[in-house]
Amino acid sequence: FRINIAIDGPAGAGKSTVARMVASKLSYVYVDTGAMYRAVTWDMLNQGIEAEDVTGVLERMKAIDIELVPGEDGQRVTLSGYDVTDEIRSLAVNRTVSRYAQIEGLRAELSAAQRQMALRKGVVMDGRDIGTTVLPDAEVKIFMTATVEERARRRFRELPESGEVITLQQLEREIAERDELDRSREVSPLMCADDASVLDTTNMTINEVADEIVRLADR
Ligand code: C5P
Repeated sequence: FRINIAIDGPAGAGKSTVARMVASKLSYVYVDTGAMYRAVTWDMLNQGIEAEDVTGVLERMKAIDIELVPGEDGQRVTLSGYDVTDEIRSLAVNRTVSRYAQIEGLRAELSAAQRQMALRKGVVMDGRDIGTTVLPDAEVKIFMTATVEERARRRFRELPESGEVITLQQLEREIAERDELDRSREVSPLMCADDASVLDTTNMTINEVADEIVRLADR
């Protein structure tokens, strides 16, 4: 029978790479919830709607439609039918996404959509609040961490080539700032569920982490 697997943790902990591998090993569906927050953010930046304008953001939400489309070279993200997979990894989105993600109404909408995707089980979902809020009944919950230095190195490698230039040190600072924002909300999105298995991946390879999660899922 199929179960749901929730993977939470801070930016750059390797969640998405690992979640994708686990989903592929188990023939499960991978859901990248960060990509949904990123797609909304990209659209808002495009529309010139600031995160402080909560009414404007929620009004705009009604007009957009985000889809995660499984493809041959990984998951594609579409926004009202338009492929934004690469655009949502830009530094402009990195720097502002946590501010939009603090809007309660926006979180409620995306969380409801995420819950829908997991109804039939067989989902590996990664994010910040999956084990605590989105899928509190997930059969396996993982909280992945790594030092901020290691996370910055991992993120550095996945930056789009055609973007603004940034140094590793700058990126490390920005990741630390985003962690701080993600943690500082009244109801913090970044939370470790009481029943989650905590994995410090600083000195683990992606394969070791994925194997460990599959082992937990097989129990
Ligand atoms: O996982 P990723 O780094 O792509 O997520 C981008 C941002 O989206 C996070 O820094 C966080 O602000 C927000 N997010 C969230 N809740 C989730 C997933 C992402 O608030 N479940």
